[in-house]
Amino acid sequence: MLWLVFTTGKCNLTCNYCGGSFEKEVVPWEVKYNVEALRSIIERDENATVVFYGGEPLSNPSFIMRTMDGVRAKRWGVQTNGTLVRLLPERYWRRMNVALLSIDGRRELTDKHRGKNVYDVVVRNFRYLKSLGVPTVARMTVTQDTEIFEDVKHLLDLGFDKVHWQLNVVWTDRWDVKEWAERSYLPGVRALVDLFVERLREGKVLGIVPILGVVSAHFNGGYVGSPCGAGYRSFSITTDGRVLSCPIAVREKWAELGTVGGFKVLEDPLPAVCKECEYRRYCGGRCLYASQERYWGEEGFKVVDEVTKEYLRIVLSRMWEIEELIRRGIVSREQLKYDPTEDSTEVIP
Ligand code: SF4
Ligand code: SF4
Repeated sequence: MLWLVFTTGKCNLTCNYCGGSFEKEVVPWEVKYNVEALRSIIERDENATVVFYGGEPLSNPSFIMRTMDGVRAKRWGVQTNGTLVRLLPERYWRRMNVALLSIDGRRELTDKHRGKNVYDVVVRNFRYLKSLGVPTVARMTVTQDTEIFEDVKHLLDLGFDKVHWQLNVVWTDRWDVKEWAERSYLPGVRALVDLFVERLREGKVLGIVPILGVVSAHFNGGYVGSPCGAGYRSFSITTDGRVLSCPIAVREKWAELGTVGGFKVLEDPLPAVCKECEYRRYCGGRCLYASQERYWGEEGFKVVDEVTKEYLRIVLSRMWEIEELIRRGIVSREQLKYDPTEDSTEVIP
């Protein structure tokens, strides 16, 4: 299981798609429960991945240290904006199995949305983490300014082990996703899939999560709910000790599964609208939050859904070539196995 553990509701940046810190009444800025309570939940799980989350999780390094010292877990990670990396001592970083750094791609794009000089700071910290041997994932927020091929390629060339992206849709003001997707995004995705297959022919698996996670589902079993695991393989623990299905849904009652004292698991995580969809084993209903909230209404949901389906068709159209590469022994199924809950990624953008 994946445990997303909030260390604070506070953030030191105000990126324009997020807005920064949570109000203290919604997600307190200090942890209000005892690490013992966390230990008793997490140590019952033999396959526990604990990923620190926020706010900006590294703004509360003492809680991270106390947890890593007092709780046994199989994997450790952090989802960070990448600016406060030096607040956590090196010996804790050396125990991290994954660091997810928010960076949108090229410098001008990242700084436009996240703040002046953010790109340089994040890249400097990324290089430091790499020098310590910490596996890294670049987490991009994709907007109408993104050139998906250029920006993903840029991050892979910088040396990130994996790149994942999320579309800035549904919880932002409405924008013309359809026009952008047809003109820019989907052709860019096609070019990324070309690159992915090209490298596979050399026996190398590129860590492009939205492609790898779908390929993995094809060969190694699909997703029964959102690939992020929301509510059935992934649980978020807020600083006030609530257990949520989705870490974004800090205000929404439907997401509350209980508290650190006891909680339930979602029995059937696939949304009703997805039950008959031909792509459900690859997509798992995409994002549970988006399908529950539908901020863009029914029609907005459908527009995003069409983009999702077209991206899936692009990836799936190359599966026969990948099958052929497996048959010829150039890559193995094992190499194509990817469990998004081990990295806290969502697969479907
Ligand atoms: S493609 Fe759309 S309808 Fe199909 S499973 Fe995903 S979200 Fe549901
Ligand atoms: S993909 Fe959706 S349901 Fe999953 S963690 Fe992200 S916001 Fe929550």
